Amino acid sequence: MSQTSFDIQRAAVIGAGTMGRGIVMCLANAGVAVQWVDNNPQMLEQAIASVAETCAHNVRQGRIDQAEAQSRIARVTATADYAAIRDVDLVIEAVYENLELKQKIFRELDGLLKPEAILASNTSALDIDAIAAVTRRPAQVLGLHFFSPAHIMKLLEIVRGAQTSPAALDAALALGQRMGKVSVVSGNCHGFIGNRMLHPYVLEARKMLLEGAYPHQVDAALQGFGFAMGPFRMYDVVGIDLEWRARELSGKGQDAPEVQVDNRLCELGRFGQKSGNGYYHYEAGSRQAEHDVEVDALVLKVSEESGFQRREIGPEEILERCLLALVNEGAKILQEGIADSAHDIDLVYLNGYGFPAEKGGPMAWADQQGLADIHQRLLALETRQGDHWKPARLIGELAAAGKKFADSETV
Ligand code: NAD
Repeated sequence: MSQTSFDIQRAAVIGAGTMGRGIVMCLANAGVAVQWVDNNPQMLEQAIASVAETCAHNVRQGRIDQAEAQSRIARVTATADYAAIRDVDLVIEAVYENLELKQKIFRELDGLLKPEAILASNTSALDIDAIAAVTRRPAQVLGLHFFSPAHIMKLLEIVRGAQTSPAALDAALALGQRMGKVSVVSGNCHGFIGNRMLHPYVLEARKMLLEGAYPHQVDAALQGFGFAMGPFRMYDVVGIDLEWRARELSGKGQDAPEVQVDNRLCELGRFGQKSGNGYYHYEAGSRQAEHDVEVDALVLKVSEESGFQRREIGPEEILERCLLALVNEGAKILQEGIADSAHDIDLVYLNGYGFPAEKGGPMAWADQQGLADIHQRLLALETRQGDHWKPARLIGELAAAGKKFADSETV
């Protein structure tokens, strides 16, 4: 890419937690000088040490030499003071997932930075337009949604706000390429492409626990299909408590039947891998998920208390409901123009969510099944289980025209 006013040489990262650490490493590894801010000095000190440790680990593994490690470390500077970042080309904010906090930071950054600088948020789901709206430069505001661990996961969702300029998007795409990421542009909606699709997928998985399945059965079916991990193993890795605390804080959704198993696990301090117990048991120091009969007993109790008549749920039903939930939401994302193509949706699921590579992604998988068949199967689920299975308009249209998602731009 030619040198433009948006060519990113210097950046700042706000937040030195889980995501900030990975993002700083991505930038430093790509040759970008980084100023690092966190309002907790101890956190920043630990974060700087963790970057040095990761570089040392890479040297020990023979991935980089000592000189390269030194250059990467030298590119990262901790600073306690926002004034020190006034000349950067890009800021990536990675503080707590709270709109008011992010808006406060963006307002301050907007007043401080040169007008052409780009302001990005690593939010997982918040409204980029609501963040951009507090600045005088909405054309230069976008989302850069990294996946955890950010220096390892390939996917980068670049979130286009209503006013984000093509030049700012180009600069973000060029940076993504420099960092070796698979970048996918997403429109602005709750959860963007990946997490928005994850929501109905996980909802089906959780409902099936209440109706008769156990976590290890749901995970086994999806892992049998080829997913890197099923939804409950995934929650153990991410931390079951994150959504629990978010529901608690917002006062929303905590009473929904499908989150009662999560709630009980969290009340017992079973947050996932990090606490040694979650949907599975983990021996000290191990990441091996072990089937735990106490969890099965808890699932049984919650579903009986919620008035469910449990029934046998086999792997076929698990796959049908989880996969079709992904495909139907993917189709809505496509018809709304949130994703530019079915291929982009597939890239998100292949590179960020462990969808089996040989199946090509959820949309390619649906194309292989045939959209007329997918349409019929969704209608059957709608009849059996209700309105939320109503097929996306696009699926009906493509099926009627004998087309695929891959042809959807031409419909
Ligand atoms: P975290 O809790 O690990 O870290 C947040 C950091 O922000 C802390 O170090 C805290 O001291 C700092 N901070 C808080 N307020 C600040 C302020 N006013 N100024 C400067 N620093 C401040 O959080 P995280 O998991 O790294 O998540 C950060 C963001 O990334 C969130 O928006 C989250 O939704 C998003 N995200 C998280 C993940 C994930 O898997 N953890 C994945 C994708 C996106």
